[in-house]
Amino acid sequence: MRSNPRLTLLSDEDRSELTVILAEVEEAQGLLAAAEAAQTRVLAKAGAFAARLAEGSTAVVKDRDMALRGVAAEIAAAVRLSDRAVQRQIDSAFALVNDYPATVHCLEKGLLTRAHVAVVEDVGRRVPFELKGEFDQLAAEICLDETPGRARADLEVLAERMNPRSLTERHAGAFRERKIVRYPIGDGMSELRSVHSTVLIEGIFQRITDEANAVIAARESNPGDGVTADTRSLDEVRADLFADMLLTSTPGIGPTGDLPGGLGAIKAKVQVVIPVMALMGQSDVPCDLAGVGPIDANTARLLAGNSDGTWERLLTHPVTGLTMAVDQYRPTAAMDRFLKGRDKHCRWPGCRMPARKCEVDHNHDAALGGKTEICNLCCLCQRHHSMKQFTAWKVRQLDGGVIEWTSPTGRVYTDNPPGHGVHFSPEEDVPDDLWVKWTTFTGEFRITDQPVDNPNEPAPF
Ligand SMILES: [Zn+2]
Repeated sequence: MRSNPRLTLLSDEDRSELTVILAEVEEAQGLLAAAEAAQTRVLAKAGAFAARLAEGSTAVVKDRDMALRGVAAEIAAAVRLSDRAVQRQIDSAFALVNDYPATVHCLEKGLLTRAHVAVVEDVGRRVPFELKGEFDQLAAEICLDETPGRARADLEVLAERMNPRSLTERHAGAFRERKIVRYPIGDGMSELRSVHSTVLIEGIFQRITDEANAVIAARESNPGDGVTADTRSLDEVRADLFADMLLTSTPGIGPTGDLPGGLGAIKAKVQVVIPVMALMGQSDVPCDLAGVGPIDANTARLLAGNSDGTWERLLTHPVTGLTMAVDQYRPTAAMDRFLKGRDKHCRWPGCRMPARKCEVDHNHDAALGGKTEICNLCCLCQRHHSMKQFTAWKVRQLDGGVIEWTSPTGRVYTDNPPGHGVHFSPEEDVPDDLWVKWTTFTGEFRITDQPVDNPNEPAPF
């Protein structure tokens, strides 16, 4: 496909027209956010009013609920919503205004959207009451730089780390609740739901997806006669494979590799991110199953000890959270592995497409002399890779893997490598210059006080 110069190089006229549209959209968005903040405040006021009505009553709980129902019904009738819906809105607004003042303030100023606030509220439910103030401040700060989707991932890690009971402890209890349940959903269909460890569920889902993609790729390369053509969607193929594999295979769970239980049977490529102190067993901070969420340190340590090449192990610096090294340095694939480790997802601002599904982009075009070096490469999903190629967006890589995007109207956005946005002071005393190197294949690692020459390059093994 040839690029269209009208798209890749905007004329001055086109650029000013787009600049005006952009300013108008921003203004509308700001007004909307401010109006939503105003609505939140007044609904919270309704909640406070209902609480005051019930004050002094002895049957506190019932009276408070009745007072709230009465107020919600009054508002609901006026705005033509159900009283239940309004009562939920009042509850939510009351909690937002009281527990998340910084977040509501940012909404009021048009710095965040309602979608950001919903993420803060949702993840914040898991934060102990006495820490909500601290969570609110940090969460608002994180949201200022990110889309709601990316912010959620950071906030989940933040909420995990603020929880007084470690994930390891909670996981041990929750693991005893694993089960399979089935629900009839009508039309002769049923739903099968499995509750199990996140790593296993992710391994299962990715394996089925890989197999399904292979089926679809095979049928595309050999479409057949058109009469018996397979037109199943990805979802349908996945469901069929799921049934097929479960009904026709015999249980083989047991130590199939170096790992106990089902972990050794996982054949999908899954990335797990392990803080150094957790790997050393000196800390139980949650680890990160890339693109999915936190997992407990015990499981992550088991996976880190496994060296069959299925798991990609990433080591993060205990202080900065940046990727320090990836394992199994092989000259041919080292850069690719390092990039996937550093970027974890597409580097277009706000995109969360996992790096394993991304293409490697030469930020400065190879055809124009851009070098194949880590400091000129990043992961971009197919959509954003082609947008970079065929629209007037420009990209440049700065130090430390920071990607700078310049929009067609000349605005500049920076996208930091993941892990950069959330800084935690580790509970343990760790030297600032602690570095870890994997030794290849054996799964062993050693800690050195010699920093790697350039943290942006693969560590020399
Ligand atoms: Zn993308």
